[in-house]
Amino acid sequence: MLVSHLVDAVLAGVLGLLVGSFLNVVIYRLPKMLERQWTAECAEVSGRPPAQDEPEFNLMRPRSCCRQCGHVIKWYENVPVLSYLMLRGKCSACSTPIGLRYPLVELSTAALFFFCVWHWGATSTAAAWCLFCAAILALALIDWDTTLLPDSITLPLLWAGLIVSALRLTDLPLPQAVWGAVAGYMSLWLIYHGFKLLTGKEGMGHGDFKLFAALGAWFGWQALVPIILMSSVIGAIVGIAMKFTSGLRDGGYVPFGPFLAGAGLTAMIFGPTAILEAIGL
Ligand SMILES: [Zn+2]
Repeated sequence: MLVSHLVDAVLAGVLGLLVGSFLNVVIYRLPKMLERQWTAECAEVSGRPPAQDEPEFNLMRPRSCCRQCGHVIKWYENVPVLSYLMLRGKCSACSTPIGLRYPLVELSTAALFFFCVWHWGATSTAAAWCLFCAAILALALIDWDTTLLPDSITLPLLWAGLIVSALRLTDLPLPQAVWGAVAGYMSLWLIYHGFKLLTGKEGMGHGDFKLFAALGAWFGWQALVPIILMSSVIGAIVGIAMKFTSGLRDGGYVPFGPFLAGAGLTAMIFGPTAILEAIGL
């Protein structure tokens, strides 16, 4: 029993490696796809002719290549983690270092998938949480890189939370999920407009409201306070640390999404109440 349980979790981990490899593509390409779409829409609205003969660019095409020399990555150079080790973290054609982040994203996804199946067994509940982890990881890194939280991930994540509750895949009653989504969105919306009224500055992006609403849908309204407390405290610590190490990007803006995402994963692994205990409340 225990052995088959472990086998299931290990298989989920292997699946996690492959999903993580796909997430690397999403994290790099989705913001660029959105940018292209916005440029095309701006051109259309202003009556400029659309750019002609743009090469196809989506999650599938063109094939992944080295950003330095354009070497097209072969299938055996694209095996999660193993290829990175085999290539010793360098492009096989030009020896430009490959970011350590690629294998780390793959390993993190694998670890989270392993955890989900270890914790919930090979069930649809575990599958739902695996989906949650994949979306959260992609959002955290896209926001960190570009300060964008794409609607094409936050909104399906929100709906998925409500559906998972409606299907009773988790113990969260549907009304709590619905009110979690409402309260998550409204609370940050109010803070945003209050802050803007007082200071004339925009303290966060609209994507943060949607991500917080999604977390409300997955964990219920009771979990919102621990999640926001944890993300604010850690976000503030990281922000101050980056200020002192002058790692802060131009304009001094630290995206909030990665911290919301981190708090969401913590809530999944330890339960929302554990966050309150950890902060000492
Ligand atoms: Zn290269």
